[in-house]
Parts: sequence; structure tokens; C-alpha cells
Amino acid sequence: MTVTREQMLAWLDALAGVYAENKERLTELDSAIGDADHGINMDRGFTAVKAELAAAAPADIRGILQKVATVLIKTVGGASGPLYGTFFLRAAAAAPHPEMDILAFLQAGVEGVRQRGKAEPGDKTMLDALLPALDAMRTGGLDAAAAAAEAGMRATIPMQARKGRACYLGARSVGHQDPGATSAWLMIKTAAETWRL
Ligand code: ADP
Ligand code: MG
Repeated sequence: MTVTREQMLAWLDALAGVYAENKERLTELDSAIGDADHGINMDRGFTAVKAELAAAAPADIRGILQKVATVLIKTVGGASGPLYGTFFLRAAAAAPHPEMDILAFLQAGVEGVRQRGKAEPGDKTMLDALLPALDAMRTGGLDAAAAAAEAGMRATIPMQARKGRACYLGARSVGHQDPGATSAWLMIKTAAETWRL
């Protein structure tokens, strides 16, 4: 399954709206086990992405994804900025022309996050939503990936954090849904909704 440049731009545009809508929710989750900025970070990042792409969208998907990576690294901050930036940078490197294979995109992006953040499944991070999504994408397509990301996000609730700020809380991180797993689920869910063909 492949997407065009226009579909890629439509997804990125939709994400700016999704993170604006979920800004409070993500920040509330981060206030329980972090420093209460994840929603603010994601909203700031994708608002900037939207503005940059509206001003001048690169001619091909690779250029678009590289621009997204640069903007996210510059504007999101925290742990999640470099991680999502790496996701898009690696995805850009995997993007062929002129259309982009969704599985190759997700695979490169998720692998980038894993290498950059060095988290493992069960560490209570965004990877706990991204890795199940990638697995489900291989066999079941994008809707299955969104459902798997949602299940993975919920599965972070009983986990004890072993990476990022939340791990300073030790056992007190148990019982809260991970903010990054939640923003990752929103990313996949929005792709499934935008790219429903
Ligand atoms: P910060 O924790 O620096 O304030 P954010 O609040 O924006 O940054 O993002 C927090 C999220 O980042 C966490 O909920 C978690 O999902 C994710 N995260 C943190 N460290 C890692 C890591 N090493 N690997 C993958 N994800 C991580
Ligand atoms: Mg935070």
C-alpha cells in the first residue's frame, strides 16, 4: 500500500489539528508521570510543521519528510522531539519516489526511534505503541496497525517506566498511561483515517 505526496501532506495537516485537539489530554498524562509538557510540545511541533509546509512544501515525499524532521527537532524539545525527528528522518531515507510504501515508512521510522532512544518493549514509551503497530501493519494493514497501537498504548498503564523522565518515579509510574505512547497512537490512527482508500 502506497501513498502519494498529496496524501502525505493531508496526513501532516490533519496531525496539526489532532495534536491541537489533544494538547490538554497529552499534557495531563505527562503531568502524572513527567513534567506536564508533552501536549504542548507536540502541538508546538506540528503547528510549526503545518506552517512550514504551507509556506513551501518540497516537491517530493522525501523532501517533505526531511523538512518535518528538521522542524520537529527544532521545535518539539524534550525527549520526544529528537525521537519523532529521528522517526521522520529515517522514514525520509526509506521513501522512494514518487509514492511511498506505508510499511517501509513505518518500519524505518520505528527502527529509528528504537535506535535513538534505546528503549525496549515494556519500558513504557512510545515504542510500546509503535512496535505493535508495525507488526500489525505487516499482516493486517493500516487499520490493524491503528488498533494495535491503541492496545499497546493501553498496555503501558500497568508498566513501570524504564526510560525517560517517568523512570525517576520508579513504582509510582505504574497505573498511568504513557504520554508518548498516546501521541504515537494518535499518529497511526490519523494515518489510518486520512489514508483510508
Ligand atoms: P520530556 O520527557 O523530555 O518532557 P516529552 O514529555 O515530550 O519529553 O515526551 C515524553 C515521552 O517520550 C514519554 O512519554 C515516552 O513515551 C517518550 N520517551 C522518553 N524517553 C524515551 C526513549 N528513550 N525511547 C522512546 N521513547 C521515549
Ligand atoms: Mg514531558
